[in-house]
Amino acid sequence: MRNPIRLIALALLLASGAAHAQTAVAVQSPTRAHVEVLASEKLEGRMAGSPGEKLAADYLVKELQRIGAKPLPGQADFRMPFNFTAGSKDGGSTVTVTRAGASPQTFSTPAQVQALSFSDNGEVSGPVVVAGYGLVVPESQNFGYDSFTGLDVKDKVVVVFRYFPEDADQQTRATLARYSGLRYKAQAARQRGAKALLVVTGPRSPNAGEVVPMSFDTALAGSGLVAASANGAVADAIFAAMPGKTLEAVQKEFDSGNPHVAGFAVPDLTITVKAAVERERQTGHNVVAYLPATNAMAGTAAANVQKPWVVIGAHYDHLGRGATGSSLAAKEDAGQIHHGADDNASGTAAVLAMAEALSKQPRKRNLMVAFWSAEELGLIGSNAFVTTPPVPTTDMAAYLNFDMVGRSTDNKLTVQATGTAAMWPKMLEQANIAAGFDLVLQEDPYQPTDVSSFNQASVASLAFFTGAHVDYHKPSDVASKVNFEDLDRIVTFAGSITRRLLDMDEAPLFTKVEQKTDTGGGRAGMRIFTGTIPDYATEVKGLLLSGVIGGGPAEQAGLQKGDVIIEISGQSIANIYDYTYALELLKIGQPAKVIYMRGGERRETTLTPAARK
Ligand SMILES: [Zn+2]
Repeated sequence: MRNPIRLIALALLLASGAAHAQTAVAVQSPTRAHVEVLASEKLEGRMAGSPGEKLAADYLVKELQRIGAKPLPGQADFRMPFNFTAGSKDGGSTVTVTRAGASPQTFSTPAQVQALSFSDNGEVSGPVVVAGYGLVVPESQNFGYDSFTGLDVKDKVVVVFRYFPEDADQQTRATLARYSGLRYKAQAARQRGAKALLVVTGPRSPNAGEVVPMSFDTALAGSGLVAASANGAVADAIFAAMPGKTLEAVQKEFDSGNPHVAGFAVPDLTITVKAAVERERQTGHNVVAYLPATNAMAGTAAANVQKPWVVIGAHYDHLGRGATGSSLAAKEDAGQIHHGADDNASGTAAVLAMAEALSKQPRKRNLMVAFWSAEELGLIGSNAFVTTPPVPTTDMAAYLNFDMVGRSTDNKLTVQATGTAAMWPKMLEQANIAAGFDLVLQEDPYQPTDVSSFNQASVASLAFFTGAHVDYHKPSDVASKVNFEDLDRIVTFAGSITRRLLDMDEAPLFTKVEQKTDTGGGRAGMRIFTGTIPDYATEVKGLLLSGVIGGGPAEQAGLQKGDVIIEISGQSIANIYDYTYALELLKIGQPAKVIYMRGGERRETTLTPAARK
């Protein structure tokens, strides 16, 4: 599973929580051997595009052949390749500051200048406009904040501060934070005709004066703009000849958050930005097959039912040795194989086991069996698939996704995206009469897993999930910790639902769920580290902690697994969205009052957030 919110809040976690006791595993587990192969050392963590991914794909192809599955109509092979950017690095970006009548100053070390990962490659020159924090809040928000008001940035180099105003009131910060992602700022500058965006981190902000490190970014194309970040020395050179305009003084004016503090042109100055981003292209492979509809059901063939396809899927890639940045390995484990037994050998095994069981039964619809790659890099494989689907997505009755289904505790199973069809809750509850899980249903389909791709393609979907845990995205996510007994129960449960979908004449009617959160690039503005590990698979009102990171601010505040945060710094917290939103309001190093419930008792503590790099 790839998790934006998890990358915010969970990027921090760890090490509480005892491994759950293993009960005796049935000898004939239909999933165990699959998980053990996929999570083995030999497959080296199944990084998309790597030799380990190819070995995993070979295994899946063999298994699909064994159960009699076929390549999709019109396809010669089970493997369906797609291209992606496997990483990016700076290839020698420079900034040259030229003041009228003075000799140019060029900055070229990585500490002075770094292209932003989404920059176009190229060299542009122009006069300079300082546009504050470069923030634009859409008119629909009725907020009235536009850093570009009154500025002519056409064909100019726009200089902006990173993040958002430091001294604004909470409500203002909350709103602005959501539009403070650098991609969002670049987009705003480009739309107004700017030639280049140059970002500086002000002395009053976290990571003061430093360049923005080139982040892992999987975008294939650039942003249509040359964009780079520069350090304090470059900023000083820009303001050198403006009386009273030190970097700090300029930042302080904008930090009030008052929308009437205007940007300004810097007279007699030209900046040349040369951005060089080297993107490494690689090829990943989805592995997709199908079990054709049988004619054994009374007088029907696939063509006679509404929407003749049902799709079950799981991503089979993982983090390799964790080089991409979403690894949560402790320092001493850096570079180790991330086995990904739960994430997502478990889901892959579940889909294989379901397909095998269903292959022996008659069906009115075709069953598509899909294994996605590059999910961990941003749902790239499933996106590629729904973008140019070999079978029209309008012919798909349903998509069932399995991502992290191997660590059920206390008989709990979460099913997400249930808002995508009105019939889901009843169908799940009926199937659960035999299965007997403590089901948690969540309507939201905007999940950080491949179900999102199908929801975007308007396919009624479900996502099965047994919850985050302390081994998430770490080398310690190993096969021996998988709860095979419950994984096999999930196979039976989801298999019965799939069977029903294969055999019913009508198809679930897709319902669009409105997106609750507007990410607006705000995630990229995230600066705060609290060391909390949220429990994502809960319907508890508030934020239930599944743990805290050892030594982090939450642990220092005395918070622990099982606590439910209901208020932070005066903001009430009903769910994970409220929480991530509230985090954006906190200030690094400034104690925040936290109200939480422990064992039914209301408690209070003080948490002091730290800076995230
Ligand atoms: Zn993952």
